[in-house]
Amino acid sequence: MPIATVNPANGETLKTYEAMGEEELERRLQLAEATFRTYRTTAFAERARLLNRAADLLDEDQPEIARVMTTEMGKPVKQARAEAAKCAKAMRWYADHAEELLADEEPAEADVKDSGASRALVRYRPMGPVLAVMPWNFPLWQVVRFAAPALMAGNVGLLKHASNVPQTALYLEDLFHRAGFPEGCFQTLLIGSGAVDDILRDERIKAATLTGSEPAGRAVASTASEMIKKTVLELGGSDPYVVMPSADVDRAARVAVTARVQNNGQSCIAAKRFIVHTDVYDRFAERFTEGMNALTVGDPLAEDTEVGPLASEQGRGDLEELVDDARRSGAQVLCGGERPDRPGWYYPPTVLAGVTREMRIHREEAFGPVATLYRAADLDEAVLIANDSPFGLSSNVWTRDGAEVDRFVRDLEAGGVYVNGMTASHPAFPFGGVKRSGYGRELSGHGIREFCNITTVWHG
Ligand code: NDP
Repeated sequence: MPIATVNPANGETLKTYEAMGEEELERRLQLAEATFRTYRTTAFAERARLLNRAADLLDEDQPEIARVMTTEMGKPVKQARAEAAKCAKAMRWYADHAEELLADEEPAEADVKDSGASRALVRYRPMGPVLAVMPWNFPLWQVVRFAAPALMAGNVGLLKHASNVPQTALYLEDLFHRAGFPEGCFQTLLIGSGAVDDILRDERIKAATLTGSEPAGRAVASTASEMIKKTVLELGGSDPYVVMPSADVDRAARVAVTARVQNNGQSCIAAKRFIVHTDVYDRFAERFTEGMNALTVGDPLAEDTEVGPLASEQGRGDLEELVDDARRSGAQVLCGGERPDRPGWYYPPTVLAGVTREMRIHREEAFGPVATLYRAADLDEAVLIANDSPFGLSSNVWTRDGAEVDRFVRDLEAGGVYVNGMTASHPAFPFGGVKRSGYGRELSGHGIREFCNITTVWHG
């Protein structure tokens, strides 16, 4: 894949970049290592000052960087601005909370005594340069939710961003630099995915985080495991969205539309499989399909656009294949399902009913505005369908019955259960999945501690 900005709204190549050569990569690795030696000793207050400055700059840059993101990957510009605002908020959150999240822990006095110590504590120390392999779908957010905690913990970051968002990748390096972070704290490596392996094997890289597809996650995790390096993986999702009879069905249907098509449907935590109790299925299906049909699809730079093009021609092709496979196997297309005759990689909001286990879309991630509807006879069946997926990122349940909520929270195989609402990440809550959605957590105290050397300090 060339490193280039190609506008998904018309397929036009706007800017191409040469991949960095060996010498430049070596210079950057040396710089990362050297910077870490001193940066790791800086005070939390100093790191917070720099990160708050980065947040302020990002707020100032918001309109421009939003346009860049939209031009590179096609998300509606309003959503791009919201993404930039969310990044600034996360930076401030970590600036405010990191010191407390990484404060020394004192074990219970009785245990300290039992170990024979006069005093003992647990200290969170930084690990060193961390490699972040990131995707294009939230080109700022995916990076910032790694970078903000990493920098606050005293680590330094090297970003290998997706090849289709090079301008956003370079913007991020520039942002942290302008904020005053020492050179080498955060660097962008303009490289293709084929160059990741060598970098990951380099002794100077201490750990890696990847957000993206399963094959990419598997490649990075297997090299990292060979090198005995820690990884955090945030891979795909096919989140269930369960609607029970006691729910506010109309509201559930309205929110379902946003939950499915946010970011043109290209979100790992988008609700993708809509599992509806038979008593309210018809009503939900009707309202939901109406809502999907009513969306404004068009130029992502237009303020009123709700769904733009998919990020790449390949992505649209993959999605089309999933829909065609389901249709051939008997799924009913309640709306959408045909690519429009226009330039750009558009695909309409689509609802499929009658999806069965044999269809690829039942097991694979539909990365675009395509929803599948399932009818469940009761709660047990709803849980069975929800868990019948290789993924386990997040989940959504709509019910006003407390006992049902308890069952869902007990039984759903996912890293999150969102009740009467849609999944959305927040800096204070851990984010990540189980099964083939990956492992480890981002955000919150859990996220910042992933790349820390958890050190026992024992005094005799
Ligand atoms: P990829 O997983 O291929 O890309 C994500 C990142 O991983 C990019 O930086 C990419 O680099 C890099 N990468 C890809 N292959 C390797 C490898 N073997 N070793 C190291 N790094 C690698 O995602 P795609 O863009 O191809 O999307 C494919 C599917 O992945 C989507 O349809 C969706 O199902 C899923 N996906 C999930 C995301 C999520 O948020 N969980 C985000 C994006 C995709 P490069 O761009 O240079 O190839």
